[in-house]
Amino acid sequence: MDLGISGRTALVGGASSGLGRATAERLAAEGCRLAIWARGAEALEATAADLRDRFAAEAVVITADATDPEAAARVARAAVEALGPIDILVLNAGGPPQVDPTATDPAGWASAFQLLATTPIELATRILPTMRERRWGRIVAIMSWGVRQPIELLAYSNAGRSALAAWMKTTARVVAADGVTINGVLPGRFDTPRIAAVDRGVAERTGRTPEAVRAANETTVPARRYGQPDELGSFVTYLCSEPARYQTGTFSAVDGGLLEALP
Ligand code: NAD
Repeated sequence: MDLGISGRTALVGGASSGLGRATAERLAAEGCRLAIWARGAEALEATAADLRDRFAAEAVVITADATDPEAAARVARAAVEALGPIDILVLNAGGPPQVDPTATDPAGWASAFQLLATTPIELATRILPTMRERRWGRIVAIMSWGVRQPIELLAYSNAGRSALAAWMKTTARVVAADGVTINGVLPGRFDTPRIAAVDRGVAERTGRTPEAVRAANETTVPARRYGQPDELGSFVTYLCSEPARYQTGTFSAVDGGLLEALP
C-alpha cells in the first residue's frame, strides 16, 4: 500500500526511545521530513543520526521537557522554523510515576496533567491552524490501554490521558471537514525501557524479580508476549497516511488482545 506521505513534515515526541522512536523510524522509512523531540539531547542526536543513515531522512532535534509549561510553545516554534508547516503531529512523551491511588497529591496531579494533557493539547492547538489552512493534517497520540481499563498503580496516567482523549474527541469533530484527522492509539504492554521500569517498580513493591513480573504480565496477554515497538509504530504511521483520511476521533488498542471489553 502506498501511504502517500513522502515529503510530508512530521513532528514526533518522545522519539529517542521505545514507541516514539519506532514511529519516527517508520515515518522516516515512508520519506517524511522529521523533527524529533524529547528531554535528552544525546539520545535524540543518536536517533537522528540513525534516521539519516538508515533512511536518508531529514531529521532535526529539539530538546524540551513536556512537564515544563513552556515546552509546547518552544517545540512548535522550533519545528516550524526547521521544517516549515507541520503535516503530521505525533503526541508522545514519557509516562508519569506510579502512585498508590489513595495517596495522590496536588503536585503529582499538576505534573501529570502538564505532561499528559496540557502540553500535548497546547502543542496540537499551535499546529492545528496551518493544518486546517492547508486542508491536510494528521494528529496521533500515543496513549495507553489504561484509558479504557484503569491500571491500579497508574492513577495519574489513567486520568491525565483520559483528559487528553476527551479533548481529542471533541476537536476531531470540529476539524474533520478541513482534512485534519485526530486519533489515539492505546498500547498494551510493549517491550521498551518504560515497561521495564514499570515492571521493576512492581517487583520492588511485591518482593518479586522483574523477570517474574514480566512473565506474569505476559500470561495476561492473549498473544502471550509483550509487543515490539515497531508493531505500534507501523499502526501509528498508517493513521498518519493518506489512505487513513476517513478515520478520525478513534482510539484503537494495539495490545495483543489484552483488553477484555468490547471497544
Ligand atoms: P520510553 O521510556 O521507551 O520512551 C519515552 C520517550 O519519551 C523517550 O524519548 C524520553 O526521552 C521521552 N520523554 C520522557 N519523559 C519526557 C518528558 N517529560 N518530556 C519530553 N520527553 C520525555 O517509553 P515508551 O514505552 O516508548 O512509552 C511512550 C509512551 O507510551 C509513554 O507515555 C508510556 O507511558 C506509554 N505507554 C507505554 C506502554 C509500554 O508498554 N511501553 C504501555 C502503555 C503506555
